[in-house]
Amino acid sequence: MENDTIAAISTPAGRGGIGIIKISGKNAISIATSVFRRSSTKSIPQPADAGIFDSHRLYYGSIINPENKKVDEVLLSVMPGPNSYTKEDVVEINVHSGLLVLRTILDLVISKGARLAEPGEFTKRAFLNGRVDLTQAEAVIDLINAKSTRALEIANAQSDGGLRQYVQGIIGILTDILVKIEASIDFPEDTGIIDTEIVISRTENDVVRNLEKLISDYNEGHVLRDGLKIVIAGRPNVGKSSLMNQLLKKERAIVTSVPGTTRDVLEETLIISGIHTVITDTAGLHESNDPVEMIGRKKTREIIAGADIILFMVDAVTPFIREDYDIYNIIKERPVIIVVNKTDKASADFVLNTEYELENLPAVKISALYNTGIDFLKETIKKLFENMTGLYSGDILPNIRQKKALERGLDSVKSFVHGLKTGLPFELVSIDLKDAIDSLKEVIGLKIKDDVLDQIFSRFCIGK
Ligand code: GDP
Repeated sequence: MENDTIAAISTPAGRGGIGIIKISGKNAISIATSVFRRSSTKSIPQPADAGIFDSHRLYYGSIINPENKKVDEVLLSVMPGPNSYTKEDVVEINVHSGLLVLRTILDLVISKGARLAEPGEFTKRAFLNGRVDLTQAEAVIDLINAKSTRALEIANAQSDGGLRQYVQGIIGILTDILVKIEASIDFPEDTGIIDTEIVISRTENDVVRNLEKLISDYNEGHVLRDGLKIVIAGRPNVGKSSLMNQLLKKERAIVTSVPGTTRDVLEETLIISGIHTVITDTAGLHESNDPVEMIGRKKTREIIAGADIILFMVDAVTPFIREDYDIYNIIKERPVIIVVNKTDKASADFVLNTEYELENLPAVKISALYNTGIDFLKETIKKLFENMTGLYSGDILPNIRQKKALERGLDSVKSFVHGLKTGLPFELVSIDLKDAIDSLKEVIGLKIKDDVLDQIFSRFCIGK
């Protein structure tokens, strides 16, 4: 049921100055009235006691339990729909933020008929009730998660509807073309002959180019919002876990001298030279019949495909043996930094030579064991990050879901253009055009399946 009344604690758990309980739905105001007593110096009853609240005003009073005892001194505000976050009646109660206080008041509100909100359900309602489009709803989670000033700027531009307007513009062009094509199918004698050359050039210039731009914006800019995904890859025993430990400066990964013991994938979040990163240590990519290691390998390949930077570790004493090249063949399509480890064990000349083994790749010499070269490695990561993001200057930045829908849209548009160029009948090419429009509508949430919506909003916290 989408129009029942929901409630949640909207502030983080724990002690604090203020905690907020949020209620939204058709019974929000009556529920609030039933638990709230306005404080007043006057003896005559105040309008708020009768459930008459002025919109967007703060009321000072108390929450009263069924035994007529005060639970907490609060500030209550009422935002009647449609002028609220969800477009429904919304009540916010500012209480003292202790877990017991918050829980007690939430339980009270629920006992009066509200239901506990699911993660992101308030924002989901804002979307379903048409207050924001899907790109704006998704920007809310980006705002909450923003890890840098740039990420905040991008999230704000998105919550202002920048991406929606851009995509709507493209949908408008495609719809215009579709209308003309369909008219010429249905009423050929009235519409005259469509100049396919003009349609092709309009589609290529105004649609294909703009979609390609959005997709490349994602590639160039997504790390600003999502953080940098770094993967440490290399054959067993080369020192991956030791490097991970040095970067984390704490002994989380299991370091061992038996090859192949780091079987599962370890993921940690940390700040490297001011950049938010998610760093992953992988199981060895070496051939093995051990089923556990086989799973590790498949998983490793998936992780490599999703990495922004790969730290490819080799051993300074025995660099670039067959296993190293096998790994290199898997990772070479991605941005790679060669990390030559165990330099403490190798002669200076030998270490130097390894730098030129794989041309044009940045190489850093370290000793994970003795913590040398780690700062230079961090600087190299930072430079690569700056090169990656330097190309991106805009603020209309799709997320991965939106990018995938844009790519599907682009494929259909390209297929439409190809159909026109090869003289396919309009009845056929118009199918591609409709598919393209549908995919672009998905970006802004006009044509979206319930399970996709659930997935999007499950990323939110409860109370947002
Ligand atoms: P992984 O299998 O790639 O994760 O390798 P580990 O980090 O578990 O390291 C394997 C072995 O190499 C351990 O005994 C480490 O102490 C050792 N090791 C790691 N880095 C260095 C290094 O820079 N110098 C030396 N001498 N030994 C190292």
